[in-house]
Amino acid sequence: MKIRLMLGLCGALGLSAWWVTCAAGPADRPSAGNLGATASGAASLDTAASATRDSLGGKFLDCHVHTAGLGVSGSGCFVAPALKGSYKFPLYLKAFGVKEKELREQGDGVVLDRISALLSRSGTMGAAVILALDGVADSAGGLDTARTQLYLPNTFIANETRKHANLRFGASINPRRAYALTELDRVKAEGALLVKWIPSIMDIDPSDSAIIPFYRKLKELGLPLLTHTGTEHSFLEAKDSLCDPFRLELPLSLGVTVIAAHVGTPGKSHGQDNMERALIMMGRHANLYADISSLTQINKLGYLKRVLEAKESRGRLIYGSDFPLIETALVSPYYQTGRARFAKLRSAAKIENTWDRDVALKRAMGVPEDVFRRSAELLLK
Ligand SMILES: [Zn+2]
Repeated sequence: MKIRLMLGLCGALGLSAWWVTCAAGPADRPSAGNLGATASGAASLDTAASATRDSLGGKFLDCHVHTAGLGVSGSGCFVAPALKGSYKFPLYLKAFGVKEKELREQGDGVVLDRISALLSRSGTMGAAVILALDGVADSAGGLDTARTQLYLPNTFIANETRKHANLRFGASINPRRAYALTELDRVKAEGALLVKWIPSIMDIDPSDSAIIPFYRKLKELGLPLLTHTGTEHSFLEAKDSLCDPFRLELPLSLGVTVIAAHVGTPGKSHGQDNMERALIMMGRHANLYADISSLTQINKLGYLKRVLEAKESRGRLIYGSDFPLIETALVSPYYQTGRARFAKLRSAAKIENTWDRDVALKRAMGVPEDVFRRSAELLLK
């Protein structure tokens, strides 16, 4: 029952229900103070980013890690009142290794402290991209709090990741926000390695020609777009048609580097597997990559093998974990019995560190070494 309830959580991690609205409301825009700090820190952050690839010390970069916040300590994190009180709350806190009391006493940054500490004990993973999550835009280009289910502001993620040598900033900007283009400049200066979207809950149609200036700016700044593809079930509402990989034709044709999260899994669009549609798009566009996060989840059995066998995926897959979901009952090496040598699955299951276990499991399932290396090669160049 527990596992069934958790299916399809990826997206924004299904943090849904439990993130309590910040008393101060969402931090819609950065303060002048933050902007000042940004400009002065830009050069050093750029240097730090390029140095990081070397400083990974032969370890890998995880391109897809979630955090969360209760909105305490002025973090600006926001969750729709309708999503409060979910059964997921204790499950996720456990996966993050934090208690609600700690969050309330120490602030939302404590989650990133725990992620960093856990990561520092990994023998395989040197750093992780922590993903912000923007919300739905209203007609004036502001944050539509009534339609936003979950909001993790760029400023919070940028400030917290800066405190940890092994965490990197993954920004999120709804292109329909009035400040979208200037925010792109700002997050780039803050050291963002990519921009993350979940079109189905942020109400973004990637094929909308109104987004062209945003795509051009992404390309100009060299920021890849990591965008959810496939169906999403962790929120109250999701417009799944917006996560059809075929909708990525526009940014790809404009030369944006796009990373299709989860290789389109799961679900179908127009009667065809979204995974097949992602692979078709990879065959058409050399600038389309895909992350392998969530492909070991119990609701996605069999997909990873199909992806690895497809010639279109060669040289285009990058490592992502979707932490904290790898630390929940959604993932176990034993679910892959019959798809990999049992001795390898058993030894993977014995590994305590969640990233080391994830890498061992994916290696057991045939993920080649270049996939683990490619996240850093693509994002830290
Ligand atoms: Zn995710």
